[in-house]
Amino acid sequence: MDTEIAIIGGTGIYNTDIISNKEIVDVETPYGKTSDSLTIGEFNEKKIVFLPRHGKKHSVPPHKINFRANIWALKELGVKRIIAPCAVGSLREEMKPGHIAIPDQFIDRTKDRDSTFYDQGTVAHISTADPFCPDLRNLAISAGKKLNYNIHGKATQVCIEGPRFSTRAESNMFRSWGADTINMTLFPECVLARESQICYLAIATITDYDVWAETAVSHHEVLKTLEKNVEKTSSIIQNIIPEINKNRDCLCANALDEAI
Ligand SMILES: [Zn+2]
Repeated sequence: MDTEIAIIGGTGIYNTDIISNKEIVDVETPYGKTSDSLTIGEFNEKKIVFLPRHGKKHSVPPHKINFRANIWALKELGVKRIIAPCAVGSLREEMKPGHIAIPDQFIDRTKDRDSTFYDQGTVAHISTADPFCPDLRNLAISAGKKLNYNIHGKATQVCIEGPRFSTRAESNMFRSWGADTINMTLFPECVLARESQICYLAIATITDYDVWAETAVSHHEVLKTLEKNVEKTSSIIQNIIPEINKNRDCLCANALDEAI
């Protein structure tokens, strides 16, 4: 059985309890080591794999994540869908801490990351006009509504290089650009998935307001919100997986057709 679905665990998401018949594997890649070992197992009669984006001990900072190795390894295992939770800051008053956003667009503000598998030999220009899988997005939005969560079905997410947070000027500039949420790990993860013709869904859980808001937030509050968000993310994922069909007729499946 191919491992069809991957969960790339973000900040706070290390728990593999929902997976049964677990097996820990390491996958060799031409790009070096993945963030950590991968956990393969079953959920709802589907074979899934879990990879902690920052390593099991949260020891890999955003700008040091080996995104190419991570996505390569998942492709090697036969993954067709990636569900990728991430903790984000909010750039909008109405997108409150504790809410969830399902990004439909991104703005790349990273500077120093390997963001393609096609950097020698073959030249490929994939379309990222709609960078996230429309089918998985719909499933996530429906699941969030069913669970009565505050879920925003659209969001433009800025990905910054990090590891520092934005200045107030940058944060306000991103707002003026129409961005809604911000983090440090969305890019190039989603783009490498598209190059691999893997469907990619980001589940962005809002931890706090970004620095534009000038609201004083205690570390304790952030942790409390993060903890609740982890529970919500897990419920959404458990709702989505049974709904995923084996066949795909989304644009992701044929992303390379016109690209090479
Ligand atoms: Zn898709």
